[in-house]
Amino acid sequence: MRKILLTADYVLPITSSPIEKGAVLIEGDKIKAVGRQDEFRFDENFLLNGEVEIKDFGQSVLMPGFVNAHSHLELTIMRNMLGAVEDNFLKWLLTLAKIRRNLSEEEIYFSAILGVVEGIKSGITCFADVGNIGKASFDALKQCNLRGIVYQETNFSPSNMTASLDFEALREKFLALRQEESFLVRVGISPHAPYTVSKKLFEKIAQYSLDESIPVMIHVAESKAELSFLLNGKGVFADLYTKQLKNLGPNSLEFSKGLSWFPPKKRPIDYLKETSILSSKPLLVHCVHVTDEEIASISENKCSIAHCPRSNARFGHGIAPLRKFLDSGVSVGIGTDGAPSCGTLDIFQEGTAAILFSRLKANREEEFVKPEEVIKLATIGGASALGLEKEIGSLEVGKQADIIAIRLDSVYQQPLLNAEEHGVFGENPETEIFDDIYSRLLFTCTSRDVCWTSVVGQELYRDGKILIFDENELRKEIIKTAKKLERRRL
Ligand SMILES: [Zn+2]
Repeated sequence: MRKILLTADYVLPITSSPIEKGAVLIEGDKIKAVGRQDEFRFDENFLLNGEVEIKDFGQSVLMPGFVNAHSHLELTIMRNMLGAVEDNFLKWLLTLAKIRRNLSEEEIYFSAILGVVEGIKSGITCFADVGNIGKASFDALKQCNLRGIVYQETNFSPSNMTASLDFEALREKFLALRQEESFLVRVGISPHAPYTVSKKLFEKIAQYSLDESIPVMIHVAESKAELSFLLNGKGVFADLYTKQLKNLGPNSLEFSKGLSWFPPKKRPIDYLKETSILSSKPLLVHCVHVTDEEIASISENKCSIAHCPRSNARFGHGIAPLRKFLDSGVSVGIGTDGAPSCGTLDIFQEGTAAILFSRLKANREEEFVKPEEVIKLATIGGASALGLEKEIGSLEVGKQADIIAIRLDSVYQQPLLNAEEHGVFGENPETEIFDDIYSRLLFTCTSRDVCWTSVVGQELYRDGKILIFDENELRKEIIKTAKKLERRRL
């Protein structure tokens, strides 16, 4: 089996201490060994026989690929298109849905490819992606040999009366995707959010997920509008439903009875618990407005959280209590959310936002979130949140060879202090200089410093070049679609 020895000035296994002058041996699709370069002794004949290919990355960090714990790859084409309505979340959601209706399946597929390619270039090797047109991101991930779980999303389905039909429609799409699952790309289900999914539909999905062990993802506790809608049936979402009922006209009595939405008078997590969906251990996205009791409930039910600080901030939803999530022991991953809300599918930017916002929110008695904690969220944390921690998220023997390299030699990254003299991996009490590699990754590196991305030992990106897709062809497709959207009145 093909063996490759990767070497670099720094190796970050994540679940153990950083290694200076480190090396990772890959055999086939798995990690065979991790250690210091001088621990790997090969005699000349062995090397000359070509049994081991050596790739030296020099002044770089080798680490596991990032896990993007929440994205909407199909929406990447809408990057920068919704700025005019971003101060009104409901209008933003409705405009987005309108634009999506104007796109063909092929255009949505290229939109998803655009997101996948951007992810590969910024060191993301695994996506937890929600798709209304789930097939688009599912096919895009498969096409580019990237890892991921695609959660097929429900349509707008707030009526208990149509819950059976809504469930069947969802199940049909899910089963079609599941038939095509691969080793790298798996499928889940996403009941979108408590304000667009009926209680009965939540209950049906909960039962189905438990019976068939299906991964579930839900947007929850994202906005104050959602909170107000659930607690007292008021606010912009309630106004929208009232308006829709009026628009349905005189023949809509039966339907309107079902659509009448009685507020559960419960907070979001408590409401999800009531529907039994928490038993399916869902990945909960946002969780901005959660109480200590709700965090305890998330932890007790062994759910996980996708933390999306930039998206939460862009809409003015608030700052999620990251320190409390970490202290509760819940599995937390970092998610960029979709390109229309975050702008870039960039885990470096998302990680920086995560640490800075958490410190803004913290009161001074609260312990600061540390760079090491955030890098862990972006790797093993995301893997655990997806239930993939035995396969990915760290450089450990037997795990999948999903590995990235990040350069540290650009002038804007200098100085890079010498470890022995200054204590790169810790504070040097004599000089008080503290240059920690996690801090450097988070505060100095950007996605442009990623120079190599591989999944199951297969190179997908090297020194600025995507190896699995023609970028020029992609650029043409995207420009063509964007021009079409510009011309069409919504
Ligand atoms: Zn989302």
